[in-house]
Amino acid sequence: MVFIPHLVDGEEVSSLDGATFPSIDPATREEHATVALGSAADADRAVASARRAFDEGPWPRMGFAERGAILHRLADLVTEHLDELALADTTDMGKPIDDSRSKDVPRTAQNIRFFADHARLAHGDALPMDTGHHAYSRFPPAGVVAAIAPWNFPLMLESWKIAPALAWGNTVVLKPAEDTPCSATILARLALEAGMPPGVLNVLHGYGPDSAGAALTTNPRVDRITFTGESNTGRVISEAAARNLVPVSLELGGKGANLVFDDAELNGAVDWSIKAIFTNAGQVCLAGSRLYVQRGVYDEFVERFAAAAQALVVGDPKQSGTQIGPLASETHFRKVGSFLDGIEQHGGKILTGGGGEGWTVEPTVVVDAPPDAPVQRDEIFGPVVSITPFDTEAEAVHLANDTRYGLNAMVFTENLSRAHRAGAALRAGTVWVNCFFVRDLRAPFGGMGDSGVGREGGDYSREFFTEPQAVVMAIRPDRA
Ligand code: NAD
Repeated sequence: MVFIPHLVDGEEVSSLDGATFPSIDPATREEHATVALGSAADADRAVASARRAFDEGPWPRMGFAERGAILHRLADLVTEHLDELALADTTDMGKPIDDSRSKDVPRTAQNIRFFADHARLAHGDALPMDTGHHAYSRFPPAGVVAAIAPWNFPLMLESWKIAPALAWGNTVVLKPAEDTPCSATILARLALEAGMPPGVLNVLHGYGPDSAGAALTTNPRVDRITFTGESNTGRVISEAAARNLVPVSLELGGKGANLVFDDAELNGAVDWSIKAIFTNAGQVCLAGSRLYVQRGVYDEFVERFAAAAQALVVGDPKQSGTQIGPLASETHFRKVGSFLDGIEQHGGKILTGGGGEGWTVEPTVVVDAPPDAPVQRDEIFGPVVSITPFDTEAEAVHLANDTRYGLNAMVFTENLSRAHRAGAALRAGTVWVNCFFVRDLRAPFGGMGDSGVGREGGDYSREFFTEPQAVVMAIRPDRA
């Protein structure tokens, strides 16, 4: 059995009390690794390591080019270890291996490179003042960052947090989700190999509430908390952070609306809508789980969409070609199952799917669900979509905005004005027109309402991971 240790101060360590927990492969439903189970004392040890590396170590004092070179070496090593990292995420949470290999791991390397370059090339303000002063801005690192991550895109989402934090000179304690511990430990080993000083990137394993995760959020020696996970967890973390007045960024849940208008290019609309809900078995915060289709193309769209859903390859996630693997854990499988059990009782009709073997749920298409049914309102985080017809653009926008979430929305139309009009009217952090899941790392990413607080990406990440400072200099008159 593989043992997955914490990584603290450059050393692989067990928990102080020796406790462990199992990591379960959802495809076999068997333990595939034993993981160090962090306690509050382990969290303190990890924060102390990051604190020391920040207060006394070379990392925050290095030039951007030097730090950037180490981050680029890390990205090279991530690419060299693609197979190992991809298998780690797939084994931990059942993501199809093709996705881990072609998306999660390559994008992790890209994210690291992007933020290394962004920090090196960023510039601030230079403000010559009328008063005989000159002001300029600086962006010193914030300090110790606690990065708390979810299990759905383990390595990739961790890199969205740690890459900008590290590039700007912070030190980090990363707590991966308990269901997906393996790739984070590999990444931290690679960081040391790339030349990152000990203590700059620490990894702490363990649970959230009353455990390692919670202990990080209450530690007064932490300067930033960046969290991705469920909306209710976000509320708890926000309260904990408020006690120490620590800035917190929250990337939370979603209930993405996907609007298909009569004039949409239907092949593309069907393909993207399938990807939007069934990628990663629907375990995507950005999933297009509410599909609204204009009446003129409704019947044809539903028929083609249901056929495409049935054609998806469901099976062993470690087998190339599989498109839908099992859900990430038994707990999550039961949660999705309870939504499925209630669909017909709340007035919806399951057109296809609903079953599955082991912890797998087949792609499930629901029609006729009323607007207040749980399938329309709650984040299921599984391969379940509800399709609803609409008549007018105004109605479509109203339906899309009738949610407590506000992470993303999609619009499929060939009408340019409608795309801009509807896009501007949608309450969502990201609106995709005739596409899905495309990300420019310079753009703001995040949500409103129950979907979160703050934005990640380019300058938005800089603002969060630094303490912007103004320096105002008096320019004395020439007394000669
Ligand atoms: P979760 O909230 O259960 O757990 C996320 C992380 O928080 C884990 O590491 C967990 O151990 C930790 N945690 C839990 N309770 C904690 C506490 N009280 N204090 C400190 N840490 C705690 O979420 P999950 O089930 O891992 O992830 C799925 C959720 O994440 C979904 O709601 C999904 O929409 C959301 N998500 C959002 C985005 C985004 O960018 N907005 C991206 C991916 C996932």
